[in-house]
Amino acid sequence: MSSLAKLDQQYVWHPFTQMRDWLQHDPIVIVAGHGTVLRDVNGREYLDANASIWTNLHGHGHPKINAAIRRQLGKIAHSSALGLANEPAAQLAARLIETARANYAPTRSAATDVSPQPQLPLEKVFFSDDGSTALEVALKLAYEFTRRTRGAKTKPRFLSLAGAYHGDTIGAVALGHIDLFHQAFGGMLFKSDQVMAPYCYRCPHNRAQPERADARSHRQCGWECVRQVERRLAAQQKQRGPYAAFVFEPLLQGAAGLIPQPDGWLARVAALARDHGALLIADEVMTGFGRTGLASPLDAAAIAHAIQNPASAKLFATAHAGVTPDFLCVAKGLTGGYLPMAATLTTPAVFDAFLGEYAEFKTFFHGHSFTGNQLGAAASLSSLDLLQSAASVRARAALQQQLHDELPSLWALPAVGDIRQVGLVAGVELVKDWRTRAPFALHERMGIRVCEAMARRGVLTRPVGNVIVLMPPYCTTRAQLRQMLTALHEAIEEITGHPG
Ligand code: PMP
Repeated sequence: MSSLAKLDQQYVWHPFTQMRDWLQHDPIVIVAGHGTVLRDVNGREYLDANASIWTNLHGHGHPKINAAIRRQLGKIAHSSALGLANEPAAQLAARLIETARANYAPTRSAATDVSPQPQLPLEKVFFSDDGSTALEVALKLAYEFTRRTRGAKTKPRFLSLAGAYHGDTIGAVALGHIDLFHQAFGGMLFKSDQVMAPYCYRCPHNRAQPERADARSHRQCGWECVRQVERRLAAQQKQRGPYAAFVFEPLLQGAAGLIPQPDGWLARVAALARDHGALLIADEVMTGFGRTGLASPLDAAAIAHAIQNPASAKLFATAHAGVTPDFLCVAKGLTGGYLPMAATLTTPAVFDAFLGEYAEFKTFFHGHSFTGNQLGAAASLSSLDLLQSAASVRARAALQQQLHDELPSLWALPAVGDIRQVGLVAGVELVKDWRTRAPFALHERMGIRVCEAMARRGVLTRPVGNVIVLMPPYCTTRAQLRQMLTALHEAIEEITGHPG
């Protein structure tokens, strides 16, 4: 074991990790990264197939982002946003709002017949540090906004989706509905309501038999999931007044198991939430900055348009669905995955509710030591330059297409129950038998074992339960993506003992 591995095992407590298991294995110690490749302390190279827990967009050690951070470091690393403005944070806020304007230009939703709701534009940016804090900010702003607009006696309440995960700080945990993560802390939390989320593959209302195809594409249902949202919103409005906000991950729920929403679901429920008086909080911590792809379906016209107009290519899942939120929470990929930084974008209506005379104390009493950090802002500006270039648009289109073309080969494996791709993300759900959809028990550690077998083949990712996550950096080459898929195929064969 290397000396670094020994230090780690002696002193570091890892997140979401059973440390007894951790201490029994020689850990992979990463010392360098370049593009999609990570190198460990022994010189072994791996492909970063989950983009370093869904953060990295353009690959590691990108010369432009590195140079932007270095340039900023030559000026200053950090000064406080409490009482002071700074150069890159001001520029980044402007750039984010400009990007939001391009993303949320009022167009009719292509997926449904639902007209976009009249909605105020996103015009203000509150910076924080990570995904959880971006959600905390939205939550506190929505809470206070509701009390100010509906009366101080109002008890604002929030609605989120079954399986929701919005982070690990207490407010974010209170919005979450994954018992394994959240139940233990129940006594510390405020109560939020949950409502059915679409999960076509395991939906009790989906009458379709299992097929060797994405469950969304052959579902047979009557949109019961939408009706349940409508009933919950209506019941709340009648009994206690409208929800303060409906909080959701748009297009796909990550930690719930990479669960994608069928076309049209989001536009419908967002319109219902608005009609029932709730604000919309979009958690785009995972989905933001191009992760959900360029367009669906990815046809030649959509690609050509995006390449011609790279600055207006849609970067947010809500924008793809034609939904403009009141709060847009971004983190992970904001800096290209280089530094911890987050932002909560909101509307002038929310901002104005916090204006007043000093002694009225309408101030938003919230902030962090590193709010608006210069190094993070410089990295973010550079990442946005890359994202909004024709070269990146081309690379993303090619990667999305290759995933679309090559993922289906996994259907040959009987342990593959569902393959779900949304843009540049794919989840592969492993089951005991695809004909019955029978799940593996969590204690069988099937997802973990398959990922360990992938690591032995030089490909790193982390499962969500029995779902294997593929979330390659956008710079991933054709050969590298093929290597990821081959490793996944072979690992499933090895661990399940069933060849494809
Ligand atoms: N929201 C979503 C959708 C996430 O996937 C995550 C992290 N996986 C978070 C919030 C929390 O982000 P962070 O870990 O940066 O606090």
